[in-house]
Amino acid sequence: MKETYLGVDVSPLTYEGILTELRKRMANHQQSTIIAVNPEKVMTAQKDPQVKELINNSTFQIADGVGILLASKLQKGSIQSRVTGVDMMERLLKFAAEENHPVYFYGAKEEVVTKAISKIKDNFPSIKVAGYTNGYEKDEAALVQRIKDSGAEIIFVALGSPKQELWIKRNMNALNNVLVFQGVGGSFDVFSG
Ligand code: UDP
Repeated sequence: MKETYLGVDVSPLTYEGILTELRKRMANHQQSTIIAVNPEKVMTAQKDPQVKELINNSTFQIADGVGILLASKLQKGSIQSRVTGVDMMERLLKFAAEENHPVYFYGAKEEVVTKAISKIKDNFPSIKVAGYTNGYEKDEAALVQRIKDSGAEIIFVALGSPKQELWIKRNMNALNNVLVFQGVGGSFDVFSG
């Protein structure tokens, strides 16, 4: 059961819970989107109905931010621990490497995304990198075609919020073989550092 804060949904699932659900959904060829929710996004959603809709229409709204945890405790909710965007990405990378799902990396500056991939390959040597594109690519149609041709099943989109969520919403139908979409904000910068 999802919890709701000022009209914004948050999933009480842990990292493992989300991975279990993702495995089932992938087996059924269902696409999933993961969005990180923090108090800042909850506040933005109050003023911008489009942001609220983007969050609530995602498959998994993860409780990124200690503020959500506190709110859940006050409401006697069931969110036990934070599920951060960067840690969720790390769990997904491990899952992708172990279960052989090709990954695409889209976003951040060229040197950031390439360095992040190099560090990720060091940590997960068996990972299959389907491809990558920096976040300043202008030809969206060409990019979507490149991602389709890459055979990616999981994509991390690092354009900042809500740009990355809007990109996912616009393109997920066309990318019908990509089953997991996570908007990861500045996470490529974290992995590259
Ligand atoms: N970015 C990008 N293309 C853009 C705008 C931003 O690739 O048109 C990248 C930027 O280089 C950085 C990330 O998106 O790597 C933004 O991270 P930020 O921490 O601002 O996002 P947040 O987590 O706050 O949403």
